[in-house]
Amino acid sequence: MDKILEKAVEEGKKMTALGRTATYIPELGRMDKSYLGVCVCTGDGQYYKYGDADERFTIQSISKVISLAVALERCGFERTFDRVGMEPSGDSFDSLVKLDLTSDYPSNPMINSGAIAIASHLASEVSFEQMLKFTRLLCMDDEITLNERVYHSEMGHISRNKAIAYLLESKGILENSVEESLKFYVRMCSLNVTAASLAGFGLVLASDGVDPATGKRLLHSWVVQIVKTIMLTCGMYDGSGKFAVEVGVPSKSGVGGGILSVVDKRMGIGIFGPSLDEKGNSIAGQHVLRELSAKMKLHMFADNVPEF
Ligand code: GLU
Repeated sequence: MDKILEKAVEEGKKMTALGRTATYIPELGRMDKSYLGVCVCTGDGQYYKYGDADERFTIQSISKVISLAVALERCGFERTFDRVGMEPSGDSFDSLVKLDLTSDYPSNPMINSGAIAIASHLASEVSFEQMLKFTRLLCMDDEITLNERVYHSEMGHISRNKAIAYLLESKGILENSVEESLKFYVRMCSLNVTAASLAGFGLVLASDGVDPATGKRLLHSWVVQIVKTIMLTCGMYDGSGKFAVEVGVPSKSGVGGGILSVVDKRMGIGIFGPSLDEKGNSIAGQHVLRELSAKMKLHMFADNVPEF
């Protein structure tokens, strides 16, 4: 395992120069784009790491997985999907075109419009402190905190998400004010994690929602099933189809450079690589995952898929 991780990261490092950090949030734009780290957490609780696997960065869109899971737990299936769909959007994560022109609700909970709608519902159900506590449990990481600098940086450059939120409000989708909904959403995006925390979370999802260390169930089985399916179809923005073909592992990326991957029944994988491609996915991170998938036969249809 150590050898596979080392080779994948060392090769991936050569690709970090090709992408760029998420400059639309100034604090993220300032990140060093040469970071690259991977962590694999296996069923026996073993952590395998290479590169910058303990470096803290903000979870960004990967928090959408946590918010969806909590919404399903708290509000149930009907209420959660009442005003958010389950289809890939085919548009960029911050698009509001379809929402305005062809649909009355967001395509899915993994794009900004869907996640802001979910955040708006959740803001009436749970406090941010409860969400933070639960995130620590899911990631098996007590050191997760709110990154105030990134939070304020994003809140100061929020025009596009504000436009999305107002559009949602005009369609009667928000349950709280635009301000409250965005505050909840951006705070969740600004949690500081590591590749190792994401790997821990991935293992909980791979283990059907049970923390393998304590045997405690953190999420219902039906919730985990839905979350993993939506990660597979919508988790890598409008690059989800190609990624599913090449890697074949339910994953969710964030513009902070993180990727959370779930190899069902086997392992969780966390990536940190803030150099992003034009779709907002970590360039080198995707390379690492393609490598791990090929070398360890992680693709969910592994027997039928040739090595890439
Ligand atoms: N906080 C970011 C935004 O709303 C998250 C985007 C992402 O990671 O895809 O733009």
